[in-house]
Amino acid sequence: MPDASHASDGRSMFAATRKVYPRKAEGHFRTIKNRVNALLLTLYFVAPWIRWDRGPGAADQAILLDMSGRRGYFFGIEIWPQEVYYLTGILILGAVGLFFATALFGRVWCGFTCIQTVFTDIFVAVERAIEGDRNARIKLDKQPLSAAKIGRKALKNGIWLVIALLTSWTWLIYFSDAFQSTRDLFTGETSIWMLSMWAVFTASTFLFAGYAREQVCIYMCPWPRFQSAMFDEDSLIVTYEAWRGEPRGKVPKDGDFSGRGDCIDCGLCVQVCPTGIDIRNGSQLACIGCALCIDACNGVMAKLGRPPNLISYDSVANQVARAKGRTTKIRLLRPRTVIYGAILMLVAAVMVTVLALRDRETVNVLHERSPLYVRMSDGSIRNGYTVKVLNMRREPQTFRLSLAGVPGATLNVIGYGERDAATVELPVEGDVVGTFRVYVSIPKGAKASGIEMILESETTGARIVNHAPFAVPGS
Ligand code: SF4
Ligand code: SF4
Repeated sequence: MPDASHASDGRSMFAATRKVYPRKAEGHFRTIKNRVNALLLTLYFVAPWIRWDRGPGAADQAILLDMSGRRGYFFGIEIWPQEVYYLTGILILGAVGLFFATALFGRVWCGFTCIQTVFTDIFVAVERAIEGDRNARIKLDKQPLSAAKIGRKALKNGIWLVIALLTSWTWLIYFSDAFQSTRDLFTGETSIWMLSMWAVFTASTFLFAGYAREQVCIYMCPWPRFQSAMFDEDSLIVTYEAWRGEPRGKVPKDGDFSGRGDCIDCGLCVQVCPTGIDIRNGSQLACIGCALCIDACNGVMAKLGRPPNLISYDSVANQVARAKGRTTKIRLLRPRTVIYGAILMLVAAVMVTVLALRDRETVNVLHERSPLYVRMSDGSIRNGYTVKVLNMRREPQTFRLSLAGVPGATLNVIGYGERDAATVELPVEGDVVGTFRVYVSIPKGAKASGIEMILESETTGARIVNHAPFAVPGS
């Protein structure tokens, strides 16, 4: 069998992984990245510790996905499992928001806000502080093992591990009370399940941000594969002005750039690149749009006294226009950005409206399948139901259950009210689901294919009508 990983001439079809040693960049975009990193990390680490008073006995964490209590909390908003469609809405908002941002500014999400980018940036900063900048790190890696080298590597990995532990613990306390969980950790009462999750997330953070780095973006993340479908020629992306930079060459001794390009082939744009690519080769899947090559090249251009932005955040349309000496413009309003923007606003408006108008009490009625109906000794027909009353308010409520649609229909609720009553009162504690076994009987000879169960809250006045099926002989 021929080896599928080798071409017929014996050469490997796969390039060996090349370790990337990003050099420190300084400039406008590096400053933006630092500020965005600081903001996002502060939000991430502080948010689970913020409290929000929801009354006695209720979870008081402002942002909490309480898996055991089956509730989601976001400040004043409380989501029950039955309202999981809000999650769908948030996912749609996130996806369309990403399309919108990509159509406008290319891979700005990847370059500035993606969790992988932010943590890789932090891990590389730690590495740089301990092992030095690019050249020092390359030199250190080439050196034979020594006590000093082992010491530096151990210190770096130790700090990475502490960051990974803190990051993953913070992730876990979004799913269980932050104060209680952390107290449990220090008193040795943390469950095995929680400790296992902590270990898994710590290992992932450590490996992805410390060692896999750009490989996550290039090989694991699906987003680069289809983000090009979001671009058009007016999207702002990181581009190299080849028409101005080429033909490249070393710095002219006399400082005269006439008859040649502005690129002095210093390679700084490649050295600062966290994915190790050369943007001068054109737009590439591995470019995460971090714009650090712009900072690097602008520094070079400033030293040479040449105009800035040989590499810039610009559109392909503008690059073509510039090459031809035409005027350029930033076109943010385009059919695709208008459509994405409109969808975004529509979904957001629907979600806000539904949230504002949603009921805090609701009922689910399940018709019994076996038996579908029972003929009683007096000729009446009886159907059984399981009625679940969701009281999503903190305070207890009493609900009045009655029937409509079939004259003479009566109710029996096991454990509540009298037999064959017209209405029955059902008490439901606050923040719970009350489950009741309900029998509905219709008189002999009455016709029915369904029946209306009406639930009225004596506490809030809310009225819910549920159209339940009703089975009769021959139906
Ligand atoms: S080419 Fe430039 S923008 Fe793209 S990833 Fe590299 S440094 Fe960032
Ligand atoms: S940093 Fe600028 S001048 Fe240097 S190689 Fe890159 S494009 Fe050319």
